[in-house]
Amino acid sequence: MIGDQIVHNKEFTPLFFKTEIDKRVSQLAREIAVEYDGKKPIFIGILNGSFIFASDLFKQVNIEAEITFIKLLSYKGTSSSGHVVRSLGLEESLFNRHVIIIEDIIDTGTTLHSFLPEIMEHQPASLKIATFLTKPSALKYDIKADYVGFEIEDKFVVGYGLDYDGLGRNFNNLYILKDDDSGQTE
Ligand code: 5GP
Ligand code: MG
Repeated sequence: MIGDQIVHNKEFTPLFFKTEIDKRVSQLAREIAVEYDGKKPIFIGILNGSFIFASDLFKQVNIEAEITFIKLLSYKGTSSSGHVVRSLGLEESLFNRHVIIIEDIIDTGTTLHSFLPEIMEHQPASLKIATFLTKPSALKYDIKADYVGFEIEDKFVVGYGLDYDGLGRNFNNLYILKDDDSGQTE
């Protein structure tokens, strides 16, 4: 298990092992549980990438809490932002609720920058972001996550729910692209 992984002919090398990931996710869960005790927060996991992080995090948040999942559809809009993101599958009312978005990774921040206004339309009592990873040097929008697993350099990663062209989500460890080419496919 310990060693490099080949995915679609690209070579990836371990960045964080599962034991380290588990430790960090447990810490985040404890912080969230303390902050949200008595507030009955609703977590919103962004599919597909966040499903493993969301599951590991949520089962350790030992307070009264809900979770739901949505898919984001991203397309080129005609608006000046040029990028529109709408959600699919959100059935719960978020009005006056304490909402925590769960993301796999914030890269440029484009996705959340486009999507957070839609959440705000529901008038939640509060809105915070928990992300497994951030790439601070790639960030293009003023998006700040409140709970961050790890900050990483601007290179492509797979594993722990994150894929490279469909594969690699089931790797327990997190792997980073070995070559110097960035490997960005999305
Ligand atoms: P952003 O909109 O912040 O630029 O990108 C967010 C989305 O891009 C993530 O939810 C994820 O789907 C994808 N993404 C960005 N960087 C990576 C990466 O290094 N690996 C993988 N697998 N996906 C990434
Ligand atoms: Mg994603």
